[in-house]
Amino acid sequence: MQHSAAHFQVKNGQLLGARFVPSPNFNDRPAHTEIQLVVIHNISLPPSQFGGGYIEQFFQNQLDWQAHPYFQTIEGMQVSAHLLILRSGEVLQFVNFNDRAWHAGRSSYLGKKECNDYSIGIELEGSDDQPFQSVQYAVLAQVVASLQQAYPKIQQHLAGHSDIAPGRKTDPGPYFDWHYFRELLQQKKSTHK
Ligand SMILES: [Zn+2]
Repeated sequence: MQHSAAHFQVKNGQLLGARFVPSPNFNDRPAHTEIQLVVIHNISLPPSQFGGGYIEQFFQNQLDWQAHPYFQTIEGMQVSAHLLILRSGEVLQFVNFNDRAWHAGRSSYLGKKECNDYSIGIELEGSDDQPFQSVQYAVLAQVVASLQQAYPKIQQHLAGHSDIAPGRKTDPGPYFDWHYFRELLQQKKSTHK
């Protein structure tokens, strides 16, 4: 199923057009914190394998740790992202944007630490060793354009996990085409005007 024609809108911290799959892994953002950054990640469970629904289960603390040997290496981890864009282009929302999802870990952007406090985390179902799907870029551009409308401080503040946690994280990885993504985003923004 393709979702490239989807239209998204942010309302009360929810992305209309996404499937809401609530994760218990969140807490309050610090008081008076404005959302000002989007962090892009990749994830696949098991690594480099797609489908299966394991990422959803992982973010909901419902993954069967015995289902695959790799899962034992992440057993008990409690993490989340606000959004996950599957290979099909379907968008899942795990955490309300007003809340603090647990995606960045130890991190810093332009000298400001603890990116989870003030960012929105978007996972692409993918890996460091395989190209992303073109529908994922199209949907990501639509989603980020909607987020920029709802949270104007984001503007050009788009970073990869590897940018905010260098040496510790490598995602979204060498196959994520930033130039192409920014071009699509620019097109989206000009058609909004
Ligand atoms: Zn990441």
